[in-house]
Amino acid sequence: MEFEKIWNSVLSEMEIQVSHANFYTWLKSSKLLDKQEGGVFVVALPNNFSKEWVENKYYKNILAVLRNVDDSARKIEFVVQGNIFKGTTAGEKIKSPLETFSQTPFPEFKIDPVTNLNPKYTFKNFIVGSSNELAYAAAQAVVKDIGSKYNPLFIYGGVGLGKTHLIQGIGNEINTFYKGKVRVKYVFSEKFINDVVWAIKNRRMDDIKKKYRDIDVLIVDDIQFIGGKEKTEEEFFHTFNTLYGENKQIIISSDRPPQALPTLHERLRSRFEGGMIADVVYPDYEMRVAIIKTKLSEMGQTIPNTVIDIIAQKLTKNIREIEGILNKLIFIKEKKGIEITDSVLDEIISKNSQANKNISPNKIVKAVADFFEVSVIDLVGKSRKKEIVEPRQILMYLLREVLKMSYPFIGNKVGKRDHTTAIYSCEKINKEIIKNITLNQKINLIKDIIYKD
Ligand code: ADP
Ligand code: MG
Repeated sequence: MEFEKIWNSVLSEMEIQVSHANFYTWLKSSKLLDKQEGGVFVVALPNNFSKEWVENKYYKNILAVLRNVDDSARKIEFVVQGNIFKGTTAGEKIKSPLETFSQTPFPEFKIDPVTNLNPKYTFKNFIVGSSNELAYAAAQAVVKDIGSKYNPLFIYGGVGLGKTHLIQGIGNEINTFYKGKVRVKYVFSEKFINDVVWAIKNRRMDDIKKKYRDIDVLIVDDIQFIGGKEKTEEEFFHTFNTLYGENKQIIISSDRPPQALPTLHERLRSRFEGGMIADVVYPDYEMRVAIIKTKLSEMGQTIPNTVIDIIAQKLTKNIREIEGILNKLIFIKEKKGIEITDSVLDEIISKNSQANKNISPNKIVKAVADFFEVSVIDLVGKSRKKEIVEPRQILMYLLREVLKMSYPFIGNKVGKRDHTTAIYSCEKINKEIIKNITLNQKINLIKDIIYKD
């Protein structure tokens, strides 16, 4: 109890010192675990990524604040403890959907550390319609008959159409059905790439072989990132062959079909084509309505049918977007006590699309500056400070990616630099982002800030 009090004081002070986005992303989820001899405070963070980030960026700050609260503090030791969120009940989450929504950077809070599966993705809450029937049927078949008919199972389709939900659902279903006797591992392809790169660097290839081959079902999400990186692809191919040769099940998702994965090695592509391939496409109107109604009932909420109808008519291409709007509506209803009507919805939808249209270069500059906690003046100026280099490259990359600005414009906007500098920065980040998961996550978090209204 005392720990909790100490840490709450520290957090409330930190909340003032850092930006809102940073606080929620990095600090809110920390917890004081122990106070050891010599003034060592042990603090838990939910994953390695945040541990590294908090250590590098906030160590001094936090220690100073902690000393004000407890002057015996000399040192902080951060540890990773994936399940520090167990304390929050589902009920608390439902009360504040916008908060959970905006905190999606770390959905892995509840993730099972062995399988990497998030228990929230189940078959039960997966809605089936004409757009995903085949994929769902194949998924069910895989659960009943692991490693035989549908191997590998390859699911592809656009963003936000339920690929991750479905393939994680297979994993969770297998866990329940076989009571944990079948070893499942879910991996985001970038994590796999990272592991391989790390292993090569540290000459620990054997570790990785064991890690990935010691399982019965391997689920690889977003395989399109693997293509083009020879060592990783080679390793993936070996892992794949070994598992496949032992009749173990492989499940893969991708944003496009195997034949459209241009950089993928021919051998690997034909392997994929030898299994079961199913796509997920845009849901039709009836299905969108079903999805909205199910999500509402999961949250224990209702909104008028006319509002449901408008959402289903307007948001046609992305289920994640539908969820986002619902979360906002419920937030407004619960927190502000506003009844949801057609016009409230209209306002939210138009705000949302305006927010997307009205992204200005300055908004991006500000988001990057906020995120890295550097000054705008340094960021777009001539400063040669070391800590500005990466933020500035990311800024140029985002101006290009989000706003499709010309290189001369970007160069000029960011410190009156030459367009070749802009090209160099964009290309550097473009290349790096594929192999560096930390960078990729940072950029996604910044995008969250940019797209949030
Ligand atoms: P993808 O991996 O294809 O980008 P996700 O699986 O992450 O998409 O889905 C985006 C969001 O929409 C998730 O929160 C997911 O639970 C939800 N979702 C997608 N498809 C369905 C579906 N058929 N039924 C219920 N929820 C869905
Ligand atoms: Mg996905």
